[in-house]
Amino acid sequence: MKTFTKPFTQQEPIPEAAIARAVEVMRTGRLHRYNTLGDEPSETALLESELAAYLDVPYCLTCASGGYALHVALRSVGAGPGDAVLCNSFTLSPVPGAIDNAGCRPVLVETGPDYKIDIADLAAKAEASGAGFLLLSHMRGHIADMDSIVAVCRDHNLVLIEDCAHTLGARWNGRMSGSFGAVACYSTQTYKHLNSGEGGFLATADAEIMARAVIHSGSYMLYGRHIAAPDESVFRDIRLETPNYSGRMDNLRAAILREQLHHLDDNCARWNRLHGVLEQGFRALPGIEIPARPQHEQYVGSSIQFSLPGFPEQAVRAFIGACAERGVEIKWFGDEEPRAFTSRFDSWRYIDPAVDLPATRRVLAGLCDMRVPLTFDEQDCRLIVDVVGEVLEEVRPIRQASEGAA
Ligand SMILES: *Cc1c(COP(=O)(O)O)cnc(C)c1O
Repeated sequence: MKTFTKPFTQQEPIPEAAIARAVEVMRTGRLHRYNTLGDEPSETALLESELAAYLDVPYCLTCASGGYALHVALRSVGAGPGDAVLCNSFTLSPVPGAIDNAGCRPVLVETGPDYKIDIADLAAKAEASGAGFLLLSHMRGHIADMDSIVAVCRDHNLVLIEDCAHTLGARWNGRMSGSFGAVACYSTQTYKHLNSGEGGFLATADAEIMARAVIHSGSYMLYGRHIAAPDESVFRDIRLETPNYSGRMDNLRAAILREQLHHLDDNCARWNRLHGVLEQGFRALPGIEIPARPQHEQYVGSSIQFSLPGFPEQAVRAFIGACAERGVEIKWFGDEEPRAFTSRFDSWRYIDPAVDLPATRRVLAGLCDMRVPLTFDEQDCRLIVDVVGEVLEEVRPIRQASEGAA
């Protein structure tokens, strides 16, 4: 009986150069992003211009968290109290939370067997709800067919906001994830592709959206100190019309992130190598199903998802439990009881519960999720596959017994 001993929540250390820069910033004492001397650019403003260059967009704003970026993005594109906002039903709770925080009403869209938003249901719900906005989560790095998404948005006059918390560094058909909508939002929370503990940013090519986002984020009248921001003239009226929702990033986090950006593409390639070993191994195990991913989807495999189709609830629980006992931490998105970071759509009870989502329920019923930290190597991934294979054998009688009973 094999067991695995490495923790699934262990990140790599912050690079030494980032630590050195963070210490330098602390020695200055100037941690607030607008606490600059003379014309010196702040660490935060420099990070924003480097992120904008990486994403190939003119404007970027860093802020307190990914969820905060989503909230400010919604307000900055004009979503406000009472507005319907379409979003994925398979996502993380900060996504509907950001919609609620903007005073809007989340309208949950069904999930396809490929874990992505169901495009036919999206079109139907856009029609039925009259929503003017789509907050599209590239949940766990799964990128929907962006050509179809863009077409639905055009046909239904939806402003598209992309939640790229798991797709920093990913592309659709060669085009950077986040470049398809009006705004893209990212998280630099510890479990994402850049790690500053907490943090986030948004990127846009629209000068007015950016000016509103900057004022919302708490720039006061100091927006002139941004680099990846529009000309001060754009702020003339916006600075007076836009409430300050104070949620800035600070120079210490920015210092930690700037150096990490140099390693991002390399890290994405490392994630994909580990993901490849896991995917190939899991695919060969009887009982597991992994949806094929289109060639256009150039994802970053910082986590892996698979389905246990036809497994009764009891067997899924036995599988997850036995994996955990042998050190393999798998999360189940079908669990009725919200646990740790994972919660099913029907546990967000502040959302109008009148509409059920039977297709999403079916998909989530067998949906398992595993983090792929960069502290693992390919050998670790092969061992994880072996453990999962053994556990599948072990739970086979439970599966068959409950099948017989049914
Ligand atoms: C992490 C995450 C967020 C929110 O990011 P925070 O920085 O934790 O607020 C939003 N959407 C998805 C899909 C996420 O995984």
